[in-house]
Amino acid sequence: MKTIFHLLTVSLFIISGCFRIEPAEFVILVHGGSGNISSDNFPEEIREEYINVLSCALDTGFLLLRSGASSLDAVESAIRIMEDSPLFNAGKGAVFTHEGKNELDASIMDGSTLKAGAVASVTDIRNPISAARKVMENSEHVMLVGKGASVFARQQGLDIVDSSYFFTERRWRSLQQLLKEKGPEKYSTVGCVALDKNGNLAAGTSTGGMTNKMFGRIGDSPIIGAGTYANNTTCGVSATGHGEFFIRYTVAHDISALMEYKNLSLAEAARQVIHEKLEPAGGKGGIIAVDNQGNVVMEFNTSGMFRGYAKSTGEKKILMFGVE
Ligand code: ASP
Repeated sequence: MKTIFHLLTVSLFIISGCFRIEPAEFVILVHGGSGNISSDNFPEEIREEYINVLSCALDTGFLLLRSGASSLDAVESAIRIMEDSPLFNAGKGAVFTHEGKNELDASIMDGSTLKAGAVASVTDIRNPISAARKVMENSEHVMLVGKGASVFARQQGLDIVDSSYFFTERRWRSLQQLLKEKGPEKYSTVGCVALDKNGNLAAGTSTGGMTNKMFGRIGDSPIIGAGTYANNTTCGVSATGHGEFFIRYTVAHDISALMEYKNLSLAEAARQVIHEKLEPAGGKGGIIAVDNQGNVVMEFNTSGMFRGYAKSTGEKKILMFGVE
């Protein structure tokens, strides 16, 4: 009897060893916005373009993390790549306001210090995510808006561009269509979260906001706790979706708080916030998140979300639609 028991214990030990999942040493996730993303709207020919930019952003951040760089460096670099692409609603590809202008928002947060920086309603900063980081590191403040943010970015040596830099024919047509039909406002945004080799989390988000938005409207992306949050004791989160809801439901911080106060896993916390709180209220969108153990979550209540991750274990995934 004793021998059988011993054999059983040994085999259980071996089986559990076989299935044990090694935690990732470092991880990076990106998103390129959520919304009505289906195979009808995104035929195969153009899918590749989106996947290439997401992949390039992931690889850039991944290589930095592999070389020992901080999660903040990885997040900023990955987001800059998406901001420089005309495909995503951030930086170069920013959408237009009702008046036909581009007003951009961004924020970044360091989970190891809880320091954060943000810029909002900026019209001439090529990479708002870098301006957000400068605010965090080189000013006494968390958020600068409009003209002040622009003067500060110039003083910090960042690239300042003419507002025509942000003009793209595709976004202009979207605005004209919305002005005519008053259809649903489109969302999308870019974001990144990362866990580095030192166990530090960071999160960042950058956006042009929502097409046809009112002058001066600021969404959740530059608001710490709404569109962006990072805390080494819990997780890093970057959101995308209808900003007014994400602000009112403090989505990014709520996920962290459920982990901290209720001891929920990242997956359960994200599921509850996106599906049980946001969705019944009519808030559309999603999040990407990573916890301090390297667990990843990409949760959304829209038909799709551009998203992907890369882990030190070698696993890499890029997805667009709901079920893939
Ligand atoms: N959350 C952004 C905003 O409301 C838009 C988006 O994510 O698509 O400004």
